[in-house]
Amino acid sequence: MSMIDRDLRPDAGPAGTASALLTIDLAALAENYRLLAARAGTATCAAVVKADAYGLGADRVAPVLAAAGCRHFFVAQVGEGVALRSILGPGAVIVVLNGAAPGSEATCAIHDLVPVLNDRSQLDGWQGLARRRARRLPAILQVDTGMARFGFAPDEVGALLDRPDALAGLDLRLVMSHLACAGEPDSPVNAAQLSVFRAVRRRLPAVPASLAASSGIFLGPDFHFDLVRPGAALYGIAPQEGAPNPMRPVIGLRARVMQTRSVPAGTPVGYGHAATVARDSRLATVAIGYADGFFRSTAGGAAWFGGVRLPVVGRVSMDSLVLDVTDAAPGTLGPGALVDIVGPERDVDAAAAAAGTIGYEVLTNLGHRFHRVYLGA
Ligand SMILES: *Cc1c(COP(=O)(O)O)cnc(C)c1O
Repeated sequence: MSMIDRDLRPDAGPAGTASALLTIDLAALAENYRLLAARAGTATCAAVVKADAYGLGADRVAPVLAAAGCRHFFVAQVGEGVALRSILGPGAVIVVLNGAAPGSEATCAIHDLVPVLNDRSQLDGWQGLARRRARRLPAILQVDTGMARFGFAPDEVGALLDRPDALAGLDLRLVMSHLACAGEPDSPVNAAQLSVFRAVRRRLPAVPASLAASSGIFLGPDFHFDLVRPGAALYGIAPQEGAPNPMRPVIGLRARVMQTRSVPAGTPVGYGHAATVARDSRLATVAIGYADGFFRSTAGGAAWFGGVRLPVVGRVSMDSLVLDVTDAAPGTLGPGALVDIVGPERDVDAAAAAAGTIGYEVLTNLGHRFHRVYLGA
């Protein structure tokens, strides 16, 4: 009996009665970190743990990455950085991608967070604090090389650096940018952004540089520079469209059958009677719905049981959905059984594709009602 099956016995505490079970494989996470670090060659491999480590729980994920050798962590918001500092303690470098909003500079400094400086107001705010404290403060300069989202425009950087006191009070740790189309290796945007980035770097030759997130790592060494910043690939999401996924799957999601029934051909099912069964069918009501992150927009949604595909019938409800389980082996799938929603037959990316979205959105929408089991801790 595997460890997880043992956890699922009815007498095994909360897991035995949970409506749905989310397993998060921390050993696979650590292995993914090591794989990405190896891919990055001589570049330092950081980890992006924004949005509560893409929904998987930064309090469990970040220490595992630290134990695997990661020293640099990226979050999006100052509040996430404060929480992460209390998880990791001193020593880890924690970077805030969105930077310090005016008024949050002191909080940033108290918790030893490194803000990304994305525009003039963030630069002025951080330099102002450095002046008042009479010491240099660590910072990262972001340049927008072609995404129109965050960072100084390349010509703004030029104008800025023409001023002799441009970087006064700053301990500039990194100059960074972000790729818009890294998931598509053939996109000409990648080479265009790389060339803009190289031009900006010539103005700051002594400052380490970072351009690649998960997908960028797989564009090759030209894109690695001094530090890479993967997020999604750590959590098992495929870094490149249309290519085999080199990452190990990290999450598994199983949901419990609450009720089964046999219905004759022609029976309408669920809200709006949006579907009608075509044959005499066996149906199972399963305790997972859109409130848990099973997208209502999913077309061709399905679960698996014993290697058999069980299609979703009709609309997804808030707390439940209905599966056609006619093809499951007779007598095997009764109330209490667990069906695979994300698992060996359908990974996160495939589940996302069925819902018309991306693996990132599936992970960050994982509900808070799941019983979470961390494996390999
Ligand atoms: C989210 C983010 C990352 C991580 O991206 P992934 O595609 O998840 O690897 C890296 N850098 C920046 C600036 C980001 O916003």
